[in-house]
Amino acid sequence: MSATLEIRNLHVSVEGRLILNGVNLTVRQGEIHALMGPNGSGKSTLANTIMGHPAYIVEQGDILFDGQSILDLKTDERARLGLFLAFQYPVAIPGVTVANFIRTAINARRRALDPQDKGISIPEFRKLLKAKMDFLQMDYNFAGRYLNDGFSGGEKKRVEVLQLAALEPKIAILDETDSGLDIDALRIVAEGVNALAGPSLGVLVITHYQRILNYIKPQYVHIMLEGRIVESGGADMALKLEEKGYDWVREKYGNGAPQAV
Ligand code: ADP
Ligand code: MG
Repeated sequence: MSATLEIRNLHVSVEGRLILNGVNLTVRQGEIHALMGPNGSGKSTLANTIMGHPAYIVEQGDILFDGQSILDLKTDERARLGLFLAFQYPVAIPGVTVANFIRTAINARRRALDPQDKGISIPEFRKLLKAKMDFLQMDYNFAGRYLNDGFSGGEKKRVEVLQLAALEPKIAILDETDSGLDIDALRIVAEGVNALAGPSLGVLVITHYQRILNYIKPQYVHIMLEGRIVESGGADMALKLEEKGYDWVREKYGNGAPQAV
């Protein structure tokens, strides 16, 4: 059976303000969805809530993975189920190398599946990481650098996709992975995601701009405004946004300031 992430009537508050107002969305393994919307519409709030960020309070509704609510699970437990989030603003971890970080994450996943697992051997891991980095056209020097420490915007996004490639989740959420990338980096990152996409991976591509969708072709496009998905359609929806912007969305569905909780 393919894994399914289901968001049901989700209401979420942050610091006492209601940001999500009843989001419904289902992403299955093997599907590519795009979530688009103007800045501040709640896209990152949805992504952070799915991963269980403690600042985001679920007021109503549910998040299910394979039919089971994950609201009581911690972030690492959600990751072990096969959920992955590539951050809009990846944080630097000076002192922890890219290689160590990814090896630790792989081992945590393996131990979750089998508590007796001894972890991936260093030679085996080197081989795996090298293959994934070649595939993403990344210099192997990256592996020895501290995670995101002094990385350019584009380098940070590539390392997010490297983690995705190495961890092989069932459902991946990419939050504005296109922002800060020049066109060559965007193409490489998008090709990486395309090569990973397939029957065993579901992807939710969150983006403000249509640009990345020239490379990653979603089957479904959803538009978020003021904490709700107001329209869903096929790939052509993204082209409509490219052509007409978000004004028509605001005119049709906008209704002013967010409510207090
Ligand atoms: P988007 O990703 O669509 O640009 P966000 O989810 O980042 O939108 O933000 C939606 C609203 O929620 C904004 O008004 C933002 O200020 C608020 N918000 C999001 N995260 C936080 C946070 N951690 N603390 C305070 N406010 C937040
Ligand atoms: Mg955002």
